[in-house]
Amino acid sequence: MTETGKPVSIALANCAKTFADGTRALEPLDLAIHAGETVVFLGPSGCGKTTTLRIIAGLEEPDAGGKVLFDGVDVTHLPIEQRNVGMVFQSYALFPNMTVAGNVGYGLRIRKVPDAQVKARVSEMLAMMQITRLADRRIDQLSGGQRQRVALARAIAVRPRALLLDEPLTALDAKLRDTLRLDIDSLLRSLGITAIYVTHDQAEAMALGDRIVVMEHGRVAQIGKPREIYQRPATRFVADFIGTMNRLTGAAGNGVFRCKAGIVPWAEAPATATEILFRPEDIRVAESGEAANLQGKVASAFFLGDRTRLFVDVGEEKPLVIESTARRDFQHGEAVGLAIDPRGLLVL
Ligand code: ADP
Ligand code: MG
Repeated sequence: MTETGKPVSIALANCAKTFADGTRALEPLDLAIHAGETVVFLGPSGCGKTTTLRIIAGLEEPDAGGKVLFDGVDVTHLPIEQRNVGMVFQSYALFPNMTVAGNVGYGLRIRKVPDAQVKARVSEMLAMMQITRLADRRIDQLSGGQRQRVALARAIAVRPRALLLDEPLTALDAKLRDTLRLDIDSLLRSLGITAIYVTHDQAEAMALGDRIVVMEHGRVAQIGKPREIYQRPATRFVADFIGTMNRLTGAAGNGVFRCKAGIVPWAEAPATATEILFRPEDIRVAESGEAANLQGKVASAFFLGDRTRLFVDVGEEKPLVIESTARRDFQHGEAVGLAIDPRGLLVL
């Protein structure tokens, strides 16, 4: 009995949003979300993620000319009750005067589902979210993580055609966030539901998204699989927003890139490149005796247990960030040779 409604495909066509006070929250946006996929809206605060989600939910209408389609059917003017979507917010929006079971069964009861069926469905949802033992508790007796489990159980109890989640983990502490993120991931996969997950946290986006929509100032900056977004960012904004990017300035020519700290071999270097970018995992500290591309000095070193995060001064505006798994200490000011993997080099 774990099936939900048949997952929908969702399309936005020309959806802009200007609020009554004149705030332009969204530039005209086109977006196609496949049935059953998890799409993450990722971007800094104020970029329009929630507004887009609310337009999809039916809590907000797009400006004139915008359209929302569910399985090709125009739902632009249908209110949320008629769209059959489940929603989970950062603040739990649960009924404080009801028990956990009461909250989870609420949507079913207002749909006049018979009591016996409500009961069965509620226990199934509680089991799925691992909160069976909390069934009779009041909401104010629960921790933040438990409340979010209740909110998820309530949202999926009515078998929605799509699940919309707006920063559901943001209010929780780091460890709880990790656990619940894994549970949400397996929940979405086992339900096969179309899901849209809003977050400003890039680790969450990478972990959960089949695809990520990176947003900036009410516009889509890039859409792609997590790996594409990370390894082939389309713009400087995307490159800097997701993960850490190292930067070297200099000049390209004859299959190399020359910078202050040395020469990086790069056969495909565009002749006009004056700056190259690469991730921390594409540079490492050279072994003693190994030929290095660059010479630098350790500006700081943070031992993280499984690795050491190094900041290495190479005469650029910012030190390079390097992750080292070497079983050794790095001293402040120590000279190090660095080797770059040219496959990770980017020009934007
Ligand atoms: P995000 O969820 O990415 O943080 P929002 O979609 O909430 O961004 O907001 C996008 C922009 O629209 C922001 O500048 C925000 O202040 C503005 N905004 C959101 N809701 C309203 C509203 N009801 N009235 C006026 N401006 C709003
Ligand atoms: Mg928001």
